[in-house]
Order: sequence, then C-alpha cells, then structure tokens
Amino acid sequence: MVSLALGVDLGGTNARAAVVDRDSGEIVAAHKEPLRARDPAAVVDVVSHAIQAATEALGVAVGSFRSVGVGVAGQCLGSTGVVLNAPNLGWRDVPFGTLLAERLGVAVRIANDLSAAAWGEKRFGAAQGLSEAVLVFVGSGVGSGLILGGKLHEGARGVGGELGHVKVRPSRPTTPLRRCGCGMMGCLEAYTSGVNIAARVREELSAGISSRVLALAGGDPARITASVVDAAWAEGDAYARALWDEVADLLGAAIANVATLLNPERIILGGGVVLGCPNLVRLAREQFERKVLVAARQGLSVERAFLGDDAGVIGAALLE
Ligand SMILES: [Zn+2]
Repeated sequence: MVSLALGVDLGGTNARAAVVDRDSGEIVAAHKEPLRARDPAAVVDVVSHAIQAATEALGVAVGSFRSVGVGVAGQCLGSTGVVLNAPNLGWRDVPFGTLLAERLGVAVRIANDLSAAAWGEKRFGAAQGLSEAVLVFVGSGVGSGLILGGKLHEGARGVGGELGHVKVRPSRPTTPLRRCGCGMMGCLEAYTSGVNIAARVREELSAGISSRVLALAGGDPARITASVVDAAWAEGDAYARALWDEVADLLGAAIANVATLLNPERIILGGGVVLGCPNLVRLAREQFERKVLVAARQGLSVERAFLGDDAGVIGAALLE
C-alpha cells in the first residue's frame, strides 16, 4: 500500500497541487492552474480546484489525506495558518490556512515556499541525510530555507530564512540605493534577483550606458534578463563585467555570511538566476570562498538543488 501526501505550491501567478509518494518523494499526480484573481476567496477556489483535479486523477478523495501542505511565496506563520505578507498576491495578514481548511474539510499546514523547498531537498534531494543545510534561491526573488538540527527552521514568527531582505548596502552609499519589493532600501534581493537585475539594466540603458546587453536581447528592453547579462559577460562586455562583479560580490558575501553564521554541511543553490547565469555563479562562488570564515568552510559543500521546481510542492506535501 502506497502512502500518499498532498501538497500545493502557491506562487504569484499559479497554484500547483501534487500527490506525493511519502516513501519515494515521487509526484504521482499533479495539476497546475493559473490564478485568475488574487483575492483570498478566488485563490482558495483555484487551489481547491487544483487539489480536486490532482486527487481525482488517482481516484482518491481529498478527505482521505491527513492534511494538505501549502508552500506560499510570502511570509507565513505556519502555527496559525496566516500569510503575514505576500507581495506577489498583495496579501497582508490573510488567514489562508483556515480558509482553505474550511473549504477542503482537511487540516492545512502552510509554510514559506522556500522553507517548503528546503524541506523537499532535505527529504529527497540535495540535503538528504544531512542535518545542517541551507537552500539559497536566486530567481525572480531571493530567499533561503533552513534545515537546522535535521528539522525545518522557520523562526519564531515563521519568517526565518528571509535572506533576500538582509541588508547589503549601507545607508550612505557611493552608488544609489535600490528599493526592494518589501518596501525597504538596500536589501540583497534589490540587487541580485532576476527581476531587479533586469529592471536596473533597463534603467541604466535608458540613462545612456552602452552595452551589448541590448543587442543580445534583440534590441527589445523587455527581453533583458539576467541570463542575457551573463551572455554579454561572456563576450567581454565592460558593463556586464562591472555589473556581475558587483552582484557576485553581494551574493558571495551574503552566502558566506550564512555559512559563517550557521555552519551548515551544505549550501544548496537553486532558482532561475543560478540556472541561467553560469558566469555569475562562478564569480559569486569565488567571492564566497574569499569571505567565508575558514573554520566554517571546512567540510562544507556547495551543490545545485536536485529537485528544481518540484522541491516546493514535494516539501509542502511532506511538511510535519
Ligand atoms: Zn527587501
């Protein structure tokens, strides 16, 4: 008899429900559905529909599951089911766990999406068998998930691991401070996420800098991405070289600080910027090596995430 778990990955644009084999971590059925509106009632509709579709494919009733785990792109207080802040959804203090549990008639456990992904990597991915590991995600946003003492560490209010909002710029810099999606200035994410890198390059191009980046994006500023900057770097473009030196310095320092603070056995790198920007990753790793405490570097490995986009939904299903 296969033991099954039910998980949901709730992002800013779609919800993906999956039924996961508890013993192998494999996804045995899944259904992804776009969010048509972002108000909580509409999102509950979409999530419960995605769950119905995934479970019906197997002929299993939702009520037969012990609980449903949901990874949410935002700050979540797992113990109460409240989403404290989810900028992509425009939510503040939404009791999403309670609303979904009322709809489904099953207990709901919510967590930050990167906490869920870290738990997925711990159970069946790059952190399997390890008790101290950190998932560092650099994609459209920046964040981390913490495995400490073999357990998922979410912090006192569920907002542990918010690496993207660690401040990496002083208040009186020599270059302009950049505002982050969280509303504050100087956050890591404001300088290193895919969305913010692309926005910065577009701003600097329209301010008159010259770079191969625009030509490599087919002359269309809307097609500029971090991976286009990475390609310009490979062609020796001076702007891309300077930008990547700065971004790599910030990312390398932030990851080195995580390693120095927590002394993990493994740092796991994931996200679209990591996948799409091999030159940036190499430069960031060089900076990391220069900045990490020597004693914390001993026995520490740096690996790519194994489970990719599935980590979040697998980890959510298996949340404890
Ligand atoms: Zn921030």
